[in-house]
Amino acid sequence: MAVIQRRKCLVTCVGGVRIGGANPIAVQSMTNTDTADVVSTVNQVMALAQAGSELVRVTVNTEEAAKAVPKVVDTLNKFGIQVPVIGDFHYNGHILLKKYPDCAKALAKYRINPGNVNIGRKTDDNFRTMIEAAVEYGRPVRIGVNWGSLDGALLTRMMDENARLAEPLDARQVTMNAIVVSALESAKAAVSYGLSPDRIILSAKVSGVQDLIDVYRMLAARCDYPLHLGLTEAGMGSKGIVATTAALAVLLQEGIGDTIRASLTPAPNGDRTEEVAVSQQILQSLGIRSFTPQVTACPGCGRTTSTFFQEMAEQIEDYLKKQMPVWKENYTGVEEMKVAVMGCVVNGPGESKHSNIGISLPGTFEEPVAPVYVDGKLVKTLRGEGIVAEFIEMLNAYVARVYSRETVAR
Ligand code: SF4
Repeated sequence: MAVIQRRKCLVTCVGGVRIGGANPIAVQSMTNTDTADVVSTVNQVMALAQAGSELVRVTVNTEEAAKAVPKVVDTLNKFGIQVPVIGDFHYNGHILLKKYPDCAKALAKYRINPGNVNIGRKTDDNFRTMIEAAVEYGRPVRIGVNWGSLDGALLTRMMDENARLAEPLDARQVTMNAIVVSALESAKAAVSYGLSPDRIILSAKVSGVQDLIDVYRMLAARCDYPLHLGLTEAGMGSKGIVATTAALAVLLQEGIGDTIRASLTPAPNGDRTEEVAVSQQILQSLGIRSFTPQVTACPGCGRTTSTFFQEMAEQIEDYLKKQMPVWKENYTGVEEMKVAVMGCVVNGPGESKHSNIGISLPGTFEEPVAPVYVDGKLVKTLRGEGIVAEFIEMLNAYVARVYSRETVAR
């Protein structure tokens, strides 16, 4: 694992998951079902948890949703899914948390957006009511600022103050500052209402990569609360994945970030668990945490004119993913295994030797044989139709030999 100096901060416990300090950076996700639809919400929370989400957030936007939350959590418990469920509140959280105590108790954390808790009011009663619920039920909160719903009064005040300066900052910088101030002032207010500082997590999400990096650097320098990272409204497909990765990688490398989410827009009827896989892959690619064995495969080139090499790389990757739920119960450290599936002799043997187990397939015009390397040594040369099946057999034998609990304990 990479040695990254994590920013020092408080530790917050969310339904048994410890966030901050030296604890593993937690992966979280959010459902997109109607929370009032208990069956759909339970199914999606289960899918997200089984994909590896360590915290799952659900929208609590209506009375029906608030009434459904205890049923969702009870049903998850009946299925043996222990993932903490977090309530995402906007506008009416103060009403729902007060009116539906079973909802407040069932949730492991409340997400409060300080930009929309007091719309149209001059006081901060709504925010205070939500914090008082957190205090009453012993729940942590995430104060989640989002620039799409930034506190308008605060921004106006800071813009006015800036305009009076001899050398005013540009509007972008004032906005970034306002996002940070909104988070910090809200946290200060929450503490003044009785919430312990170790029950607060902050986030300050924006949708631009450079903006996000700037905001979190400022936030990290000015407080010791755990930080939840995410590029808000990251978008669809490769754009969303790349933008999220670009932003989070810079911050994580600097030791900033204690929990992350990839806010991807799924394709219609797409797989919501993709956001979990992306978060895990960001952490694993940075060498921060391991979740599943990694396949090193070359991109292929004119030396691989058949599709056999791509197909085999895909089959091995799928096989590893399918095995992981069972493997992780029985084999210690298997998630750190490196497997190489390479296209030809140019880099194939070299890359295979750097992996735990690797195969170098024959490129076009090469002799049709595939040497297999285990821990850097050539152990077998495969040929013929059954290369994939034989390689999988060797993979299974390697896992059983190296990662079984008895072997690791010795
Ligand atoms: S290992 Fe061979 S097939 Fe793969 S990219 Fe390099 S030269 Fe091309």
